[in-house]
Amino acid sequence: MDISVVVPLYNEVESLPELTSWISKVMDENRFTYEIILVDDGSKDGSWEMIKKLRDGNPFIKGIKFRRNYGKSAALNTGFEAVKGNVVITMDADLQDSPDEIPELYRRIMVEDYDLVSGWKAKRHDPLSKTIPTKFFNAATRRMSGIHNLHDFNCGLKAYKHRVVKNIEVYGEMHRYIPVIAKWAGFTKIGEQVVEHRARKYGKTKFGMSRFINGFLDLLSIFFVGKFGKRPMHFFGSMGVLSFLTGTIITIWMIIDKLHAISKGLHYRDITSQPLFYIALVAVILGSQLFLTGFVAELVARSAPERNNYQVEETL
Ligand code: UDP
Ligand code: MG
Repeated sequence: MDISVVVPLYNEVESLPELTSWISKVMDENRFTYEIILVDDGSKDGSWEMIKKLRDGNPFIKGIKFRRNYGKSAALNTGFEAVKGNVVITMDADLQDSPDEIPELYRRIMVEDYDLVSGWKAKRHDPLSKTIPTKFFNAATRRMSGIHNLHDFNCGLKAYKHRVVKNIEVYGEMHRYIPVIAKWAGFTKIGEQVVEHRARKYGKTKFGMSRFINGFLDLLSIFFVGKFGKRPMHFFGSMGVLSFLTGTIITIWMIIDKLHAISKGLHYRDITSQPLFYIALVAVILGSQLFLTGFVAELVARSAPERNNYQVEETL
């Protein structure tokens, strides 16, 4: 099979008929063999009944229904487990992404050999309250992930090689950072393609303003998990040791200073009336806390079931 299209959807009943017939039209015109995997993320508006109806008219449609709403990442991850095509395309159900982009995305994966090609909504049809924070986010994500050539990490329209989606896990709300997850998994040939972005035709957006706060926290965790998830002691331990040593050195110095003053019969201040004393105290306590945190995190990482999950590319 050439292409699997994965569509996460939550209450998008009005869009589905148009979306599926448009995808089928593009596939037939280009003679692709394909499947459309519609993942119903616990819709309550009759989307599932619509999917069943569409399926009766088109055998290439497959449906997966969650009992409740788990979120876009969960829907994508479940869709990824089911795909069979050589190239996997994800797109939103709301018709903001155009299926006409599929042939070019397919070509870039198959011919230009990209692991992942992400859409870039260069010209957006969204309110300013969304586009400005989005710019900031993408800049922060670019810096933190080192993927400098992407302008738009969270575009719903993306194309992947089959083995990429089978080797990554999208959980929580990490769908915003799939290129970063793919990069950590060793898939580094990541490209971008300018795609048409259309205004939402039916229904309304499923993410409110909270997307920015959550998105930012997710960016931090993805960064730390990616960098230190398997060796937390290197992060906490080094900071802890540094802090502890600083505190200890200051303390020793203060003791020597005081003994020196006493032996010379000079005037001296109480240790506790010196600001330095409190700095040393905080540094020592903080240092041991950080060290302990690192130690506990190390034990957690050690017992994680995926601790020895490596990406073997080839064996002979
Ligand atoms: N979506 C989903 N589960 C959710 C929220 C959203 O499957 O809990 C789907 C939604 O139906 C759509 C896609 O994710 O197909 C993108 O959502 P939306 O268009 O609301 O996001 P926006 O375009 O505003 O970023
Ligand atoms: Mg949308």
